[in-house]
Amino acid sequence: MTNEPDRISFDDLVSAIEEKLVAAGASPSVAEVLATNCATCERDGTLSHGVFRVAGYLDSLTRGWADGAAEPNIDVVGPSYIRIDGRNGFAQPALAEARPTIDEAVAESGVAVIALRSTHHFSALWPDLEAFAREGRVAMGMIASGKLAVVPEGATRPVFSTNPFGFATPVAGADPIVFDFSTSSMSHGDLQLLRAEGRDVPVGTGVDSTGADTTDPSAILDGGGIRPIGRHKGALLSFMIETLAAGLTGGAFTYEIDAEAPDGAHTFRTGQLFIVLDPERGGNDAYLGRVREFVDMLRDAGMDRLPGDRRYVNRAEAADRGIPVTDLIRSILN
Ligand code: NDP
Repeated sequence: MTNEPDRISFDDLVSAIEEKLVAAGASPSVAEVLATNCATCERDGTLSHGVFRVAGYLDSLTRGWADGAAEPNIDVVGPSYIRIDGRNGFAQPALAEARPTIDEAVAESGVAVIALRSTHHFSALWPDLEAFAREGRVAMGMIASGKLAVVPEGATRPVFSTNPFGFATPVAGADPIVFDFSTSSMSHGDLQLLRAEGRDVPVGTGVDSTGADTTDPSAILDGGGIRPIGRHKGALLSFMIETLAAGLTGGAFTYEIDAEAPDGAHTFRTGQLFIVLDPERGGNDAYLGRVREFVDMLRDAGMDRLPGDRRYVNRAEAADRGIPVTDLIRSILN
């Protein structure tokens, strides 16, 4: 990699974030997982979940709201069913800790359901989903993300979080296809970034505290609410995600945890559900090749921007030139 003055290497960024997290009370292993996750998002251009999130992690650690040294309890309650009690720690380190158990379950039974509870998830889903796809697995994940922010039509107050859902599949001879989006018109992180830049949002993004449409991110964030994607359809996806990621896992529903969280909390102790599949168990050992043909057909038909494309381009550029140093990165380097 060529070192440019306004760029930083991935490894240096991971180390800088790790150092901050450990100083705030995270164990070295938790800090490594979280720092790698943040730096991965930054490197690939998911800026709403990159270095921007470090301050929130530090806040939860220093005020003792999340336990940065928690040791998750991992229970295999069926051949394919893994229940994880994160014990008020963060979700990604708990998932990483369970990874050998998950791999074993998928190898033996073809599927693993991973139900996490009492875990704070404060990031994008795709880094973990992509890792499964790179091992030849199909993976999906969803989060009851804890911040009451989404007002479906008809509701007079926020009832859902931005409830992200992600999916990843391997593709023969190509990078995995990985998508990951909030089921709201805009993620909470992007709204905060737009507010910081003084920019407006399109009509339909959200409502103010009186329930009226607004283009002002502050009015949406402070007392208003974000609209779901696709009107009632997005609201129903959120319903499913809360039901599975909180109800089924035994984690808290967003409406419960938001009320319990201390003022100004950035992370929320909720639940997440992941499902990992061995695609060859479908009796179709040509799965990867068939997906490749399908993807080629989509590109040929003009769908020339598929999920992951943007991130893989950013990743290649970062490998070559380093990650652009933003003011946020500068602030954690000092
Ligand atoms: P985006 O709108 O940024 O992206 C949605 C997905 O669509 C991405 O996979 C993206 O691929 C893909 N995509 C974007 N544009 C196109 C296009 N034109 N054609 C095809 N695919 C496209 O998602 P959100 O802003 O809703 O969410 C951002 C992140 O926020 C997610 O990673 C989500 O997990 C995270 N999040 C986390 C929460 C939490 O509590 N932990 C809560 C809410 C959100 P690509 O990646 O290549 O751009």
